[in-house]
Amino acid sequence: MRVIKATELGFCMGVRRAVDMMEDAAGELGPITSLGSTVHNPQVVDRLRDRGVEVIATIEAIDERPVAITAHGVGPKVLDELRTRGARIVDTTCPIVTRAQQWAKKLTDEGFGVIVFGDPNHKEVRGILGWSNGKVVTMKSADDLDAPLPDWMPSRVGVLSQTTETEGHFAAFVQKLLTTHMERISELRVINTLCNATSSQQAATHDLAQGVDLMIVVGGRESANTRHLAEVAREQGVETYHVESAGEIEAAWLAGRDSVGVAAGASTPDAVIDEVVERLYALAPA
Ligand code: SF4
Repeated sequence: MRVIKATELGFCMGVRRAVDMMEDAAGELGPITSLGSTVHNPQVVDRLRDRGVEVIATIEAIDERPVAITAHGVGPKVLDELRTRGARIVDTTCPIVTRAQQWAKKLTDEGFGVIVFGDPNHKEVRGILGWSNGKVVTMKSADDLDAPLPDWMPSRVGVLSQTTETEGHFAAFVQKLLTTHMERISELRVINTLCNATSSQQAATHDLAQGVDLMIVVGGRESANTRHLAEVAREQGVETYHVESAGEIEAAWLAGRDSVGVAAGASTPDAVIDEVVERLYALAPA
């Protein structure tokens, strides 16, 4: 049985940068806290804890330790609140997320209403909403466009996407917006806020899934990016399992397979991917 890794997988630039910044800050300043989970991966969270970075769930839990903003970013109100409380801030927001936040602010400052294509409960999206001056609506799927646009939506409309969405879904969403709501729109600005790291991982997963008998997608269950990769693999018609760690892989999954593809979300560390590959070889039918 062959095990083939996707050509693009694992930690993206933004996550590597955030983890490095937090570890460096804890090394220089002593123990720090992280406002929310640094990345959606339990192994990374454990490793950071060992190195002096403790995750706190809410702003009320801050103490005298410096506070790191995660790669997903936060809205301006959270930053103001931290400053008011005198917190020392270590901002590890991914530059690609910062760009989406800046566009949300710029568009709404210029009088556009903004539609964010993404999951309103995702931390990155909540942060982007915070920069939108209240003139924003989120839509999770193109089906949300079956309803009328909100009454307050001006005729100048800006569209952004959660960075981890797929190119295909975002393009289909924008196309449907135009075909179903053209009469409400005098000007449409579509900002491509998709992350290349995400789309290259999706493309690599897509290509790999077409040539193997089974796909294993590795990453935290809470990771939107990893879940999207599993979706992309399944859309190619190949049986796909989403696992957080090597220990979840069952020998029965491998029976009769000649080739197994491995993809991994942007928050999955290299060590976890290596363990998955090792376990697949160890369990491979003789
Ligand atoms: S997936 Fe892209 S946008 Fe998200 S943290 Fe990584 S590099 Fe940044």
